[in-house]
Amino acid sequence: MAKALFCPTCRDVVLIDNENFPFCSDRCRLLDLGKWASGDYKISSPIQDPDLLEELSRSQRNKPSDDDVN
Ligand SMILES: [Zn+2]
Repeated sequence: MAKALFCPTCRDVVLIDNENFPFCSDRCRLLDLGKWASGDYKISSPIQDPDLLEELSRSQRNKPSDDDVN
C-alpha cells in the first residue's frame, strides 16, 4: 500500500499519516471542495452513441416552445 501520494490540489507529496490525507493540508482540501462546488470539475464525456444523439436532437426539435404560448 502506498505510504504517500500527490496532493490533488497542489501536487505536493502527502504522507498517508497526514491528518488531511489525501490532501497535504486543510487549505488544499478546502480548495478542492471549492472547485467541485464552483463547477470547475465538470464531467464532460462526449456522447458516442449515434442512436442516442439522434434521439436527443429529435426530442429537442419536437419540443414545443412554451415561450410562444406564454
Ligand atoms: Zn496540497
